[in-house]
Amino acid sequence: MADRQPSEIARETLKQLAVRRLAPTPDNYLALYEEIAGVRTPPAFPEGPLQHILRVLPGQTPAQKRLLGQLERAVENKDWSALQSVLVGYANLGLNPATAEPVVAQATVLTILPEDLAELLARLIDNTLPALGEDDARVHEMAQQLTQLLREPAPPVSTVQLMLGNFTYRLSFATEDQAAIRASLLELLHMVFENIAALSVEDRWLNGQAEALMAASTPPLTLRRLDDVQRRLKDVIFKQTEAHTRTVEAQEQMKDMLSTFIERLAKITDSSSTYQGTMERCADLIGKATTLEEIAPVLQEVMHATRSMALDSRTAHDELRELRERTELKRAQVAQLQQELDRASAQARHDPLTGSLNRKGLDEAMERELARAGRTGAPLCVALLDIDNFKTINDRLGHNAGDAALLHLTQVTREVMRPQDLLARYGGEEFVLVLPDTTVANGVAAMTRLQRELTTRFFLQGKEKVLITFSAGVAQLGEGETSAEAIRRADKSMYLAKRSGKNRVMAA
Ligand code: GH3
Ligand code: MG
Ligand code: MG
Repeated sequence: MADRQPSEIARETLKQLAVRRLAPTPDNYLALYEEIAGVRTPPAFPEGPLQHILRVLPGQTPAQKRLLGQLERAVENKDWSALQSVLVGYANLGLNPATAEPVVAQATVLTILPEDLAELLARLIDNTLPALGEDDARVHEMAQQLTQLLREPAPPVSTVQLMLGNFTYRLSFATEDQAAIRASLLELLHMVFENIAALSVEDRWLNGQAEALMAASTPPLTLRRLDDVQRRLKDVIFKQTEAHTRTVEAQEQMKDMLSTFIERLAKITDSSSTYQGTMERCADLIGKATTLEEIAPVLQEVMHATRSMALDSRTAHDELRELRERTELKRAQVAQLQQELDRASAQARHDPLTGSLNRKGLDEAMERELARAGRTGAPLCVALLDIDNFKTINDRLGHNAGDAALLHLTQVTREVMRPQDLLARYGGEEFVLVLPDTTVANGVAAMTRLQRELTTRFFLQGKEKVLITFSAGVAQLGEGETSAEAIRRADKSMYLAKRSGKNRVMAA
C-alpha cells in the first residue's frame, strides 16, 4: 500500500467516504486516508487550545504557580510527556489535603453548581410543571427530586446533569402528550360546532355562527382566538336560550288567552240560556195572566233580565275585544321575534352587541380594501385598539355597564372617524379599524384624535362620568402583506403601547 501514488490514495479515500456513508469532514477524510495509505500522521500538538487554558488557570498559591510554570514550558516545547506529568500534578493537588487547601475552593467552582444558577433551574422546572397536566406522575416525581437537589446546598454538577438529562427525556414525552391532547380537544370542539351547524340547518344565524366558530378554532390557537371562540359560543347559547324562552312564553300566553276566551264564550252561552229560560217562563206567565196586576211584576222581571243580559253581553263584548287585541299583539310579537332571528342571520357579519363588523365581516372588508389598494396603489392602514383596564370597568360597574361602554366607544368612533373607515370588533374589548387611503403617520394621527375625543365625550353611567382610554397599534400594509400579518404587527405595537404605560398609539 505504501507504494501507491498519493493521488490514487486520495481517490480511494473519497470512494470509501461514500461507500461507508461517512460525513465528508476533514477528520473522517484524514482517518480514511491514513488507513488506506497504511501510515499514521502523529496528531498535531494542540498548542492554541492549551494556550487558552493557560490563560484561565489560577496561579495564586506556590503549588499553582509551580504547576503553571511547568505547563507553560510543556506547551512551549510541544512536549506531550511533560504535559501529562503537569496534569497528574494538578490531579494530585486536588486530592492531597495538605497542599490542596486553596485549590479545593477552585475545585468547588468546577464541580458544584452555583447557587443562583441552581435556583434558576429549579424555578424553570417549577414553572414548566403546570403546563404538563397531572397525567404523568413520574415526570412530577422526577421534577420534585431534581428541584429538591437543586435547592440543597452545593448540588454536584454531575448528579444534576444526570438527573436533568433523564428529566428532559421524560419531559419530551409529556409535552408531546400535551400537544396531542390539545389537538384532539380541538377536534372534539370542531365536532361540537359541526353538530350545532347540522342541528340548525334552518336557522341561518346559528349556521353562520357555527361556521365562524369552526374558523376561529382552527390552529394555530392563541389565547385571543380562544377568547373569541368562547364569546361566540356564549352568543350562540344566549340566542338559542332567549329564542326558546320567548317562544315558550308566547305560547303560554296564547294558551292562557284561548282558555279565557272559551270561558267567556261559555259564560255568554250560559247567560243567554238563563235569559231564554226567563223569557220563556215570563211568556208563559203573561199567557196565563188575567189581570194587569199579574202582568206588571212579570214585565218587571223581563226588563231586569233584558238589562242584565245587555250588560253581560256588553262586558263580554268588551272583554272579547280586549282579548282579540291582546291576541293580535302576541301574534305581532311572535312575528317580530321571528324577524329578529332572521335579521340576526342577516347580521352574521356583524357583532350583535355593538353592530360593528365581526371577524367574518372584517375579513371580507379587508379583502375588498386590499384589492382596491392593490389597484389604486393607495396606502392602507389597520389599527388595533384594546380598551385599557376594561376589566376594572366591568368589576366596578357591572357587566351591563361594560357592554354599554363598548357601545359608547363604537358610537364615538363612528362619529369621529371618516365614513370610509371601517370598525370591527376583533375580540372582547379589542377593535380593528380599517383606514383606507391612509399612511401610517396619518393613521397614528387619526387614532390619537379618536383618543382625544374619547376624553371629552364621557361615557355616562348614571351620574358618573367614566373615562374610557385605549392603547393602539397602527400598521400600514406592505407590498404583498396579508391582512392577518398587518393586524399581527399592529397587535405587537398595541402591546408595546400597553407596556409603555397605556393610553397611547404606536406605529408598527
Ligand atoms: P389592559 O388594558 O391591560 O388590556 O387590561 P384589561 O382589563 O382591559 O384587559 P383584560 O384582557 O385583562 O380584560 C378584558 C376584560 O374584558 C375581561 C372580560 O371579562 C371583558 N370583556 C370581554 N368581552 C366583553 C363583553 O362583551 N362585555 C363586557 N362587559 N366585558 C367583556
Ligand atoms: Mg384585551
Ligand atoms: Mg384591555
